[in-house]
Amino acid sequence: MSTFKAPKGTYDLTPPESAKYLAVREAIAAPLKNSGYGYIETPGFEDVALFSRGVGESTDIVTKEMYTLTTKGGSQLALRPEGTASVLRAALEANLHKLGNLPVKLWYSGSYYRYERPQKGRYRHFSQVGAEAIGAEDPALDAELIILADQAYRALGLRNFRILLNSLGDKECRPVYRDALQGFLRELDLDEETRRRIEINPLRVLDDKRPEVQKQLVGAPVLRDYLCDACKAYHEEVRDLLSAAGVVYEDDEKLVRGLDYYTRTTFEFVHDGLGSQSAVGGGGRYDGLSEMIGGPALPSVGWALGVDRTVLALEAEGIELELPASTSVFAVPLGEEARRVLFGVVTQLRREGVAADFAYGNRGLKGAMKSANRSGARFTIVAGERDLAEGVVQLKDMESGEQTAVPLSDVAEAVRERLA
Ligand code: AMP
Repeated sequence: MSTFKAPKGTYDLTPPESAKYLAVREAIAAPLKNSGYGYIETPGFEDVALFSRGVGESTDIVTKEMYTLTTKGGSQLALRPEGTASVLRAALEANLHKLGNLPVKLWYSGSYYRYERPQKGRYRHFSQVGAEAIGAEDPALDAELIILADQAYRALGLRNFRILLNSLGDKECRPVYRDALQGFLRELDLDEETRRRIEINPLRVLDDKRPEVQKQLVGAPVLRDYLCDACKAYHEEVRDLLSAAGVVYEDDEKLVRGLDYYTRTTFEFVHDGLGSQSAVGGGGRYDGLSEMIGGPALPSVGWALGVDRTVLALEAEGIELELPASTSVFAVPLGEEARRVLFGVVTQLRREGVAADFAYGNRGLKGAMKSANRSGARFTIVAGERDLAEGVVQLKDMESGEQTAVPLSDVAEAVRERLA
């Protein structure tokens, strides 16, 4: 071990475990790529104001969890705590919304940073795959995103997750509800910090997990009773489309989520095997965000799924992903001449698209065979002086143990035939 360790709240992905993370990212991305979403990548840091304005001045993310820094040039930056604000900023900057093809559908994958109290499933550096559909108000788009996330989780084999669904109303009906809720909350017996929250972000109080708070929230006004007709109709349509697609969800009128920009549809994917950090992904509609960051009105919807927690969910369900061995052929040379020849064979195999690796470092036959086994390769090719003199290599099938001499020039073909 070196004198350094990964910083608190972070961890490294190393082989073979890391292959699982790649597979999860790919599984989440696959249905998006298949549904018209284009890949977008944005910087790991942004102007801090993008998040304070976009995500919300009063949210935990902005008040407590952002990694902020001042550059030598005096710019105030923040490591990105989430993806939506950055992606929308980038889409506006590139004028993607002016190309006449709305919605602009984008997907992304990357690292996010929040200064949180670390625990299992909650890290200071984590990884998300996300999707945003920008510039259209259409319940089918909300449904599409939820269906695609459901499809991704199912493709991974996950079953013990639930979809929680709610509507937060819009700029017409939400303020009316907010007033009513504030009136109710102000009468309760709450601590100072929660009292402050009532004034800045009363919906978040509903999310308070403490039993003594939850007890007092019985009888609180519910948003559903305040939704305007347009929001009600919109929400009904999302629900109908999900049901028609066979996607099971639960109505959760308490679901408000931790970011201020959500309007109308909000949803969360929770996994029942994860303890307190049970949200594996979430998202919703953010019809006002574009204007909040200085853009035109662009009603939009999106989600982000956490890769770290998805891997934990797989473990909780005992799911082993079928990860194909990364190496098909492992070459073991016996002697100097064989090293040169087999290195050439490996290079050729790779150029022909066969995954191949080589016993580097002169570790002797025993060490080399150990590496061959560990590589998971289906075949080894072994060659010594006598083989070379005859112009052959020994091709060994590691499953059956069967070994055949194959002419040097035919190795790639022989391997391909057997793999097929
Ligand atoms: P949020 O932007 O908070 O809705 O987060 C979306 C998803 O990202 C969550 O459902 C988690 O799976 C994941 N996530 C958020 N924060 C963390 C964290 N600190 N550590 C690990 N995963 C996280």
